[in-house]
This record gives sequence, structure tokens and C-alpha cells, in this order.
Amino acid sequence: MSNKIALITGANKGIGFETARQLGKEGVTIIAGARSKEKGEAAVKQLQDEGITAEFLQLDVDNNADIKGAYDYINNKYGKLDILVNNAGIMIESGGFGTNNTTTISDKELHDTLDTNFFNVVKLTNTLLPLIRKSNAGRIVNLSSILGSLNLHSDASSPIYESKLFAYNTSKTALNSYTIHLAAALAGTSVKVNSVHPGWVKTDMGTDAAPMEITDGAKTSVALSLLDENGPTGKYMHLGEELPW
Ligand code: NDP
Repeated sequence: MSNKIALITGANKGIGFETARQLGKEGVTIIAGARSKEKGEAAVKQLQDEGITAEFLQLDVDNNADIKGAYDYINNKYGKLDILVNNAGIMIESGGFGTNNTTTISDKELHDTLDTNFFNVVKLTNTLLPLIRKSNAGRIVNLSSILGSLNLHSDASSPIYESKLFAYNTSKTALNSYTIHLAAALAGTSVKVNSVHPGWVKTDMGTDAAPMEITDGAKTSVALSLLDENGPTGKYMHLGEELPW
């Protein structure tokens, strides 16, 4: 059994919950972050019923006090953090899939999306970094999306470009930039940081139209959480394949 400690944000459902489940089955101690106490506790109960060591942590990534609380809680209880999965994310554009709201998007939608999917990922990660540095194999996993790939968006005829989710895509491109910059900042340490495209996955966000089951959708996050010392850092990965930024 490992003695690794993992914090997963947005762990109450979807890819985050399944990531917690799969990591838990590997013997990792799970701190399941969720903004809803009720949903988070229900998820933890489900994990515990499967024999997983899991606990709930109140963590709205948009709440500064929760971020500070996460640092204090993990520092006091464990003194280190081995795995941080920045999984929580939102897609709130009123246009939704297939519409192009680039010229009409509200300030609020743009800011809210960037807050949750980018600014507060940076804030949480930088806050927890001293604890991650105390691990002998720190792993930071950022849930991006193929929709954040500028390379794949540069051709307007690309099917990926068709999604046209301006704020969401921009937030994931920015997150990818953070992955690259943070990996460079941590070069020479044992900490690895990578971006994930999970696939188009059947969740509340991905909808039932998605082709991929949640069990497969969590696999890239789990693999990057458990990378050994020879694994990649500063990469953008999907099921073992490297994607273009
Ligand atoms: P879901 O919508 O099913 O789950 C999102 C999770 O994030 C929920 O637990 C939600 O909590 C949580 N969350 C949202 N905002 C906050 C916040 N402010 N603080 C804490 N938690 C928050 O999405 P998925 O499981 O599909 O997505 C997980 C990640 O994977 C996201 O980052 C998404 O962008 C990315 N992704 C998903 C794809 C897909 O096809 N599904 C494709 C590419 C990337 P609550 O239940 O309270 O709302």
C-alpha cells in the first residue's frame, strides 16, 4: 500500500469522483474536495463503502478562505501533499456548444470562467506548493481540454474549432500555459506537472452525447497522478499520447 495523499478538486461527481475512486483503489489516501458539503460527504461515503480511505474537504476553489483552509488542514494533518488534481471546472457559456459568443459574451461569464478554470487553479496550486514540495514525488495534474489547444484551433476548418466555446477554451489555453511555466519553475525538483485532456466524457459537463465512459475519462488523470520518476513533466497528455499545445 502507498502512503500517498491526494487532493482532488471537484471530487463529488464526474471525472473528479472517478479519479478519486481509481486512485483510492491504488491505495492512495483521498482528500475529496467539493464546494457542497452534502454532495462531498455523500461522495466520500460512497468511496469508503468501496474500501477506499477518503475524507471530505470543503473546497470551493473560488473561495479564498477555503483555499487557505485547505493548506492549513493538509499541513496540520499530513505535513505534505503528494498529488494535487486540479479537476474542478465550469463551462457556463450561455450559447453552449455550437454557438459562437465571442463577440457577445458578458464580462461576467468571461471572468467567472477564467476565475474557476484558471486564476484560482493558480492560486490553489501556489498556496499548496510548499506542501507538494515536501513530497518526494509531487504530482500536479491540471484538467485541461483539447479545446484549449491553440495548435488544433489554428485551422478554422478543424472540427475542434467548431465548438466555439470562447471563454472555456481560453481558460484551458491559459491553464496549459500555467502547466508549462510551472513545470519550468519546478525543473530540477521531483515535482511533475502536466495538463490532461480526459477525452470527451459522459458527465454533466460532457453530456450523454459524449462517446467516452467516465471510467476511461479518469484514466489520464490517474496515470499522471501516479507517474514514476522517469515520467514526463510539462506535457499535455491524453491516454499516454502527447497533444500539441
Ligand atoms: P462535471 O461538471 O461533471 O463536474 C465538475 C466538478 O467541478 C463538480 O464536482 C463541480 O462541483 C466542480 N466545481 C465546479 N466549480 C467549482 C468550484 N468553484 N469549486 C469547487 N468545485 C467546483 O465536469 P467533468 O467531470 O466533466 O469535468 C472535470 C474536468 O474535466 C473539468 O475541468 C472539465 O473542464 C474537464 N474536461 C471535461 C471534459 C468532458 O468531456 N467531460 C472534456 C475535457 C475536459 P458541483 O457538483 O458543486 O457543481
